[in-house]
Amino acid sequence: MKAALATEIGPEARFDIVDLEIDAPKGREVLLDVRASGLCHSDLHAIRNDWGFPVPAVFGHEIAGVVLEVGPAVTDVKVGDHVVACVVPYCGSCRNCLAGRSVDCLHPDYIDRRAGEPPRITMNGEPIVQQFAVGGFADKALVNENILAVIDKEVPFPQACVIGCAVATGAGAVINAAHVRVGDSVAVFGTGGVGLNGISGAVLAGAGRIIAVDIDDAKLDVARRFGATHTVNSSQEDAVAAIRELTGGGVDHSFEFIGLQVTQRQAYECLGKGGSAYVVGMAKSGSTVVLDTSVPFLSAGKAVRGVSMGSTNLKRDIPMYADFYLQGRMNLDDLVSQEIALSEINDAYDQLSRGGIIRSVITDWTR
Ligand SMILES: [Zn+2]
Ligand SMILES: [Zn+2]
Repeated sequence: MKAALATEIGPEARFDIVDLEIDAPKGREVLLDVRASGLCHSDLHAIRNDWGFPVPAVFGHEIAGVVLEVGPAVTDVKVGDHVVACVVPYCGSCRNCLAGRSVDCLHPDYIDRRAGEPPRITMNGEPIVQQFAVGGFADKALVNENILAVIDKEVPFPQACVIGCAVATGAGAVINAAHVRVGDSVAVFGTGGVGLNGISGAVLAGAGRIIAVDIDDAKLDVARRFGATHTVNSSQEDAVAAIRELTGGGVDHSFEFIGLQVTQRQAYECLGKGGSAYVVGMAKSGSTVVLDTSVPFLSAGKAVRGVSMGSTNLKRDIPMYADFYLQGRMNLDDLVSQEIALSEINDAYDQLSRGGIIRSVITDWTR
C-alpha cells in the first residue's frame, strides 16, 4: 500500500511517500480502503515536538473508507460498509466502558495487536509503528472494529472523515462533557477545525449566546457561519472583559481549543458563577497555569476540566453527526478546505501552519 511515513521527530520533520505491506485481518480486525484522510494538527504536533512518539510510523487518524475485508470475529461491520474511525481506544468490558465512559477505558491497548503477534504494517519485513492504532495516511488501514462507526452512504468521504476527530472532539466537548443546556452561554477560544465544531455543538445544544474568540477576523467570520452569535478579536480587545460584558458577568461554559496558557487562563477568568472551563487544546508537555483558588473561586463554584476526544461514545455519536449533516443541521462542507493527493501532504501541512486553512483531506492516493 502507499503511505506517508514519518521517519524522524523534530521541528523540521517531514513525511516520505513509500510503499508498505499491510497484514490481513485477524480476530476483530477490519481492513479498510481509505477514501479520505484528514490532516489534523495533532499529527503535525506529534512529529514536530518531542512528545515521545516512536518512528518510523504511519500517522493519520481522521479517516473514512469502505470495509474491504473482516476478521473472523468481527460482528459490527460488514464488507462494503462505509465507516469512520475515531481514536477512542476501548475494550468494551472494563468498569468504565460498562458505565458508558469508553473514553476512560482502563484497557485502551485492547485495540492493538498483542505482544508476539506480527505487526500490522511492515516495510521490507521490518515493523512500522501504526500510530493511534489507525495509521491513516495510507490507502489501506487495518484497525480493530471497536473504533469504527458505520455511517450513511450518502455522506461524502471527505466530510465523513472529519467527523472522526475534529467534529467528535469539538462538538463532543460541548455536548458530552459540558452537557450544555438550552439558553446557556458558551465561549469558544480558538476557531480552527476543532473550535468550529465546538460552535456547532453549542448550536445543536441550544446555547443562548455563543461567543467565538480568535485573533483573526477572517476566522471569526467563518465562526459566524457555523453559528457564533458574537465574536471577539482578542488581539484588539480584552477577551475576558468583552465576554463579561456580553454575558452580564461571565459565561456558563468556556472551551479552550488552542492549548496555550494565555487562552487557558482567559477561559478560566471569563467564567460566571457556577461556570466551567474545559481544556481541549493540546498544550506542550509541562504546561502549567496558575489560578487564584482563594475563597471567591469556591464560593462561585467554578470548575476546570480536561476533555479528551470530546468524551465521545463513538458508536452512537459518529452516525448521529453524519445524520445531522444529511439533515442540514451540521456544517461539514465548510470544514473541508481542499482535497489533495497523498504526495501533497507536506505542502498542505505547511499551509495549515501558516493559517488560512481549516482541513486538507487526502482523497487522491494515485500520486
Ligand atoms: Zn485529530
Ligand atoms: Zn474498557
